[in-house]
Amino acid sequence: MPEVSMDAVVALCKRRGFVFQSSEIYGGLASTWDYGPLGAELKRNVKNAWWKSVVQQRDDMEGLDAAILMHPAVWKASGHLDGFTDALVDCKGCKKRFRADHLPGQGAQRSCPECKAVIDLEKTPPRPFNLMLKTHLGAVEDESAATYMRPETAQGIFVNFLNVINSRHRKLPFGIAQIGKSFRNEITPGNFTFRTREFEQMEIEYFVRPEAADEAYHRWIAERRQWYLDLGMRPEKVRLRPHAADELAHYAQACTDIEYAFPFGWSELEGIANRRDFDLRQHAEHSGKDLTYFDQADGGQRFIPYVIEPSGGVDRAVLAFLADAYREEEVKGETRVVLGLHKELSPCKVAVLPLLKKRPELVEMAKKITSSFKKHFVVKYDDTAAIGKLYRRQDEIGTMYCVTVDVQSLDDGQVTVRYRDTMLQDRVAADRLFDYFQTKGLIGN
Ligand SMILES: [Zn+2]
Repeated sequence: MPEVSMDAVVALCKRRGFVFQSSEIYGGLASTWDYGPLGAELKRNVKNAWWKSVVQQRDDMEGLDAAILMHPAVWKASGHLDGFTDALVDCKGCKKRFRADHLPGQGAQRSCPECKAVIDLEKTPPRPFNLMLKTHLGAVEDESAATYMRPETAQGIFVNFLNVINSRHRKLPFGIAQIGKSFRNEITPGNFTFRTREFEQMEIEYFVRPEAADEAYHRWIAERRQWYLDLGMRPEKVRLRPHAADELAHYAQACTDIEYAFPFGWSELEGIANRRDFDLRQHAEHSGKDLTYFDQADGGQRFIPYVIEPSGGVDRAVLAFLADAYREEEVKGETRVVLGLHKELSPCKVAVLPLLKKRPELVEMAKKITSSFKKHFVVKYDDTAAIGKLYRRQDEIGTMYCVTVDVQSLDDGQVTVRYRDTMLQDRVAADRLFDYFQTKGLIGN
């Protein structure tokens, strides 16, 4: 299959309403994106698939939805206030600011990527720039009211560790999962929705006895990789990249990225880290609360659990599923764009199309079929173009099946069902469509 270009994916996103530039009528806001009607649906499907898989279908997991705003002391304890920084340098030529590690060249003498002026790292050493977005609570804008938009959802889980254990009577091992927005004031965002200042995370903190951490770490890597494959991602586009020792955060014992071969190169979808007992230990110290785990039936020791953290990006997953599903095919001398999304992710499962919109009986039958499936899956009635054009549009947005009502349907009660991937058509009795879609897995799972 020919490689898909990023331009093609971006163009489809705009053309069909998956992703729009934020505040577009005002010229846009850099690296900020809005999910359009179909993007919102796709993103919701990705999150639902994740939630089902890691929370609802497991016995050892709980869900959580913590606030974006947290007590500022959280960020002191977590290390974000002091250590969550990029080293930045200012160019004296164009007055722009760059990440020191992104400047081309070696040694102290570098050249500005924008204006090519010399940047001397000895004369103007890089300065730390905190990536957290600062804001103020209340009417007074002083330091005492300063707080931060969370740079990760994980801390909301750690500070609720005791609440979940006590309210749910949990024993190790168990995990807590949540989905939510996070914010990082990245100086060099880019690659469409891949790196943005506002983004959504799907994070798990899985608490284990220290001696069980390594086994749990490897199990989560395998399970999380499989999740992407189960949702249709091509295995040759997904790889695991264990971090080298010098890449690891000081508290982490091990970390592996799940990477996807985006059109702009292999990039991280999700990271799975063994964070040892760092986070709970920090919060115990800073809050003064006892966050040790104790189980009389389990040796009666007190200890701080280790944690395995699978942390994925929702927006990155959406972008990867889009890029992975996008294909162009030659059909009778014309190019057909198809979004071959997995049925669980597809933003529209079925479209119902009347062959002739001027025949009220056809329209009525098509609308009746549409209504009858609304409570089962996303189904849309569409008569805004001729049938050939409607098929192409539905292919482009990944609609699994098109049901066409034609003149003969009025006589024999049968409709044509066309499958997106093969374009093969079945003639099905309208009153048997429920069974038909059930066998195709659209109903009852
Ligand atoms: Zn410059």
